[in-house]
Amino acid sequence: MAKISVIGAGVGGMSAAARLAKQGHEVTIYENSDRSGGKCRTEWFGDYGFDTGPSLLTLPAVYRDLFIKTGKRLEHILELEPVDPAFVYNFSDGKKVVFPNLSNPNTYLEIEKTFGAKASNGWQEVINRAEKMWQVSREPFVESELKSIWQLLIRKNLISQIKQIAPLTSLRRLSEKMDLDPHLRMIVDRYATYTGSDPRSAPAVLLTIAFVESTFGAWHIKGGIGQLSIALEQRCKDLGVKFEFNSLVSKILTKANRITGLELANGKQIDTEIVVANSDAEYVYNQLLSEKVSSASGERRRLKAATKSLAGFSLLLGLDNAKGNSVSMQHHNVYFPSDYDAEFDQIFTQKIPVSDPTIYICAPKDKSLVRSDSKEAWFVLVNAPRHEPKNGWDWSKGADQYAQKIIKKLDTLGLDVSRRLDFMKYRTPADLESYAMAPGGSIYGTSSNSTTSAFLRARNRSKVTGLFCVGGSAHPGGGLPLVGISAEIVASAIGKA
Ligand SMILES: Cc1cc2nc3c(=O)[nH]c(=O)nc-3n(C[C@H](O)[C@H](O)[C@H](O)COP(=O)(O)OP(=O)(O)OC[C@H]3O[C@@H](n4cnc5c(N)ncnc54)[C@H](O)[C@@H]3O)c2cc1C
Repeated sequence: MAKISVIGAGVGGMSAAARLAKQGHEVTIYENSDRSGGKCRTEWFGDYGFDTGPSLLTLPAVYRDLFIKTGKRLEHILELEPVDPAFVYNFSDGKKVVFPNLSNPNTYLEIEKTFGAKASNGWQEVINRAEKMWQVSREPFVESELKSIWQLLIRKNLISQIKQIAPLTSLRRLSEKMDLDPHLRMIVDRYATYTGSDPRSAPAVLLTIAFVESTFGAWHIKGGIGQLSIALEQRCKDLGVKFEFNSLVSKILTKANRITGLELANGKQIDTEIVVANSDAEYVYNQLLSEKVSSASGERRRLKAATKSLAGFSLLLGLDNAKGNSVSMQHHNVYFPSDYDAEFDQIFTQKIPVSDPTIYICAPKDKSLVRSDSKEAWFVLVNAPRHEPKNGWDWSKGADQYAQKIIKKLDTLGLDVSRRLDFMKYRTPADLESYAMAPGGSIYGTSSNSTTSAFLRARNRSKVTGLFCVGGSAHPGGGLPLVGISAEIVASAIGKA
């Protein structure tokens, strides 16, 4: 049995802790905050409950596997609900298309109704290509520990697999080559933002998201997706994992390139053989580890070369229909601007808040998220530049005005928000940085803004003996499904007691 310390009680940290405890290890989680969940939380303000982080769960099989392998089935603990339709996409020319959940044939029909047969055929081509890409990348890349690029290059059928993945093609270029309808191209572009990236430089393989979302579905958890964090904390406790909240880890201690312990901000030292870091990988390598640890230098170099993921500006809106007209909304709604490229230029190049952003609204039908039938709790998210006061945007300024601008835009879209507004709170990238320790407020750690980005992410098993990285900034990346997979990879790399 090894003594394992986990830094951070995010979903990745807790998923790894549960698996490791089940494998017979003695596990303690040190968490800076007074609660678990990190970015994944359901928070209540008065009559309104909001998922302030993830509001869409895809690939629930990752968590089904975790729960069944560590004790009781997920479905015995949480109520997973398929969200139908999965998405409603609204465009600036007034067109709107509905994507039904878990049915590609119905999605093709909806596309045909709105944009015609050629567009629908184009989407079928997208799904077929995305499925092939998923088959090629799932097991050897997404679900495996990435030790080196060579493990991918020595595979059988390499040439045909490379053809499918098109490693040197960007996501945008691929949809252009497919001659996809311009509206559908925007939907494909949006998949790049699922990894905090710019579709013009993100790799074509992100098209797999189209297949994963449509085939494995869009899911909600009754009471909010943050319930997943609560259930994970309980599962960890059931397996004997100890939680130390309000415990900021300030140093990872090493001797001769090997982990020996942790130091907390209050000066307390903890002896430990293995550290699983769920905190941001760059922070781990540049702040927590001494710069003298020479075996960390390769990882530091790679992390420095990676672009950071974009951040998000969110509004938590409590609406009371007694004050105005209720508007018919689905669970996941996207409103695209007329110029999507301007959004990516402003975020990644100009580093300024987006003047006319794509607006995502999560308007759950889940009545357990409001305390009265006339009320609705909307989570509104727009992509934003990171909080970088020195050489980018300083989110400590101008946030009030930006929030008002978005509310005005929502009114212009006909959503009658101002009149119904009963509660409003906004969260800037600076807020996310401070409450979830996400540097710059990046949603996903590093972005996929280059063809090699996947290889620049922190490896799950460090060259520093006894150090492992889990969560959104480590392989295979951010978002709940990948974070859960990273926990599985780390637990199997550490092995049984
Ligand atoms: C606004 C928003 C919307 C999102 N939407 C979606 C979505 O719809 N679907 C989806 O799948 N994903 C979404 N995501 C991404 C998803 O939330 C994350 O990928 C995932 O929750 C990250 O989990 P993690 O394990 O990396 O840990 P994190 O959530 O990053 O947690 C890390 C934890 O470590 C703690 N910590 C860090 N450093 C230290 C230290 N030194 N000492 C002690 N504790 C420390 C932090 O306090 C934190 O609790 C969204 C994220 C955000 C912010």
